[in-house]
Amino acid sequence: MTTATSDPTGEVTELLQHLIRNACVNDGSPDSGQEGRSVDVLAAYLQGAGLDLERYESISGRSSLVARIEGSDPDAPSLLLMGHTDVVPVTLENWHRDPFGGELVDGYVWGRGAVDMLNETTSMAVAFKRLAQSGFTPRGTLIYLAVADEEALGIYGAEWLLQNRPEAVKADYVITEAGGFNMPLPSRSGPKLPVMVGEKGTFWASIVVKGTPGHGSMPFRTDNALVKAANVVQRLATYRPQTQIEGIWRRFVESLDVPDSLARLLLDADSLNAFCESEATDLGLARMVNAATHNTIAPTMGHGGIKTNVIPDRVELQIDIRTLPGETDADVISMLTEAIGADLMRDIEITPRGTNTASASKIDTPLWDSLARVSSALVPAAVTVPFIMVAATDARFFRRAGSVAYGYGLFSERISFKDFGSMFHGNNERIDQESLQLSEALWEGVARDFLIG
Ligand SMILES: [Zn+2]
Repeated sequence: MTTATSDPTGEVTELLQHLIRNACVNDGSPDSGQEGRSVDVLAAYLQGAGLDLERYESISGRSSLVARIEGSDPDAPSLLLMGHTDVVPVTLENWHRDPFGGELVDGYVWGRGAVDMLNETTSMAVAFKRLAQSGFTPRGTLIYLAVADEEALGIYGAEWLLQNRPEAVKADYVITEAGGFNMPLPSRSGPKLPVMVGEKGTFWASIVVKGTPGHGSMPFRTDNALVKAANVVQRLATYRPQTQIEGIWRRFVESLDVPDSLARLLLDADSLNAFCESEATDLGLARMVNAATHNTIAPTMGHGGIKTNVIPDRVELQIDIRTLPGETDADVISMLTEAIGADLMRDIEITPRGTNTASASKIDTPLWDSLARVSSALVPAAVTVPFIMVAATDARFFRRAGSVAYGYGLFSERISFKDFGSMFHGNNERIDQESLQLSEALWEGVARDFLIG
C-alpha cells in the first residue's frame, strides 16, 4: 500500500528506542512518569537545528518540551504537532520481549509506547528537525510539543500548559494521536484512513449498593447488598443504550465507499446492532463500531463485604461510561436510571467521580484538506474518513481552548487494524520501521502543505 522505504536514516528508530528505554511509565501517581528524562533526549536531538526550545515543568520531573518555527505572517493559521512522552504500565509476564528494551527485531521496534504514541512523538521530532535544517519558512507558526501526563488525565501536561503557559502551546490547528490505521471494511476503492475529528466524553462514577447486615448462616430472604450489586452489574451489562447514527458516524459511512447494502446496514440502527451483536466476525471491529455509535457503560471494579459469615450491607461499584457528543451529565443519569431500574435504584446511590463531555472539531477545514492531500500522496489511492476517538486524548483540552484538533498518523500494511487495537495499552507493543518513515513523511508533508501551500 505504500512506497516509503523503512526509516532510511534510522533517526526515528533510534530516537524511539531511546524513549522506550526511558520507561516514562505513568501509573497515575503524581511522581510517576518523570517525563523530564525524555525531554532531555528530545531537546538534545533538536538542539543546534536553529530552533527555539523551551521546557516547562509542572511538578518536579514532569516536564514538557516546546519547539517552534515562527511563521512570517501573524495572520496565517498556526499548527501544533503534539505527542505525549509517557506510557502506561505493562504486565511483564505477558510480553515476549523486554517492554522497555527498545529492541529492533525483523524491522520492528519493540516496547511500551511503540504505537501509543512514542512512534508519533519521535517521528514528529525528526520531521521538525528536518524542516528546520532545510530552512523551512512557513507563513503560519509551526509548534512541536512533547507533552507529559497524557495517560493520567493530562493534569501535569496538556491541561497544565493550557492553564499556565497558553502562549507557548496554543495553536489554531492541532494534530495528535491516533488514526490512520486501515479500517477492515470492504471499500470498493483505496484504503480508508480515519482521522479522529472528535472524541467521546467520560463519566466515571461510583455506585454504592446498600443492604442490611445479618448472619451468613441464614441467608433466606435477607437484604444482601452483594446479591443486589450483582443484579446491578448484570443490568448495566445487558442494557443497550440508544443507537446514534447521525453526525460523524454518518459522514464516516458515506465516505467509506462500501457496497450499498453494507452502507445501508451501517446507517440503520437495527441492522447495525445486529451486525455488532452477532454478524461481525471481527470482534475488535464490532466493539469499535458499537462504541462509535453508542454511549457505553463498563462496570470495572467492585468492593464489598466484611467477613465470610456476614451478609454484606454495603458494596461499592466503579463504572466507566463513555458518552457521544451532545450528551449531558443529566442524560447519563437518566440512562443509568433506566438501565438499573426503579426497583434497584431505591437501594443505591450514584456519585459522579469525574466527568468530561465529548468534544468534536469541524470536519471541513483547511487542515482536513491538507491531511487528505498528503495522505493520498504517501499511500496510493488512500482517502481520509472522519471518525470519533472512543477513548480520551489531550486533543480535548485544545478543542475546548478553541483549536481545531484531529487525531491522525500513518501505518504501513504491516500494522493491521486488529494488531493496532490489541497493542494499544496491550501486550507485545511494536511498530515497524516503514510505519515510522511514513509518519515522518506525513508530518513533514502536512507542515509544508498546510503552512506554505
Ligand atoms: Zn496515547
